Amino acid sequence: TKIIIWNENIHERENEEIKKIYPNGIHNCIKDFLSNDSNLQIETATLDQDQNGLTTESLKSCSVLIWWGHKAHGKVSDSTVDIVQRRVLEGMGLIVLHSGHHSKIFKRLMGTNCNLTWREYGEKERLWICNPAHPICEDLDPYFELEMEEMYGEPFQVPSPDETLFTSWFEGGETFRSGLLYKRGNGQIFYFRPGHEAYPTYHNKNIQKVIK
Ligand code: ZN
Repeated sequence: TKIIIWNENIHERENEEIKKIYPNGIHNCIKDFLSNDSNLQIETATLDQDQNGLTTESLKSCSVLIWWGHKAHGKVSDSTVDIVQRRVLEGMGLIVLHSGHHSKIFKRLMGTNCNLTWREYGEKERLWICNPAHPICEDLDPYFELEMEEMYGEPFQVPSPDETLFTSWFEGGETFRSGLLYKRGNGQIFYFRPGHEAYPTYHNKNIQKVIK
């Protein structure tokens, strides 16, 4: 099974503190914890590469695309969004992480602005599992916590999902639908909220289990 991890890869190069958390970029951190699955053929792609690192050819054989972006959504070319959307409709899986809620591809697939409320204050996040029987939630306790995260709050302006797998609670009192499943065409989409670049979220074992 071939998967591609796409990362904007800007924060990790520009900011010394973030570089310490993800010295090789968020994409390579995700690649590392997925690498012990020998069934996966894992490729990475980044914004600065030719055609944003994604071509019709590379996507044709891709089963799941993982997407992390934040400050340069507008720099992703519309032709890249077109070919990713086409592959999702054909049946490719898409995992959109954290600030990818505002990516061109996610907004295109949702058809809404995907706005939310947010606050960066290093708060504790508690993720409650809504459907322990779903394969994505396998081996998780009823909830798990991240000591420091950015808060995302409702209203999250997305269409009603086919299923909500996680609901987050934040120290400030907000809650958020943080794990959402959608089907578009033949493709499955999973939006998963945690993953602010300034915190070591992708080093967390439970977060890794969910993405796996
Ligand atoms: Zn963030």
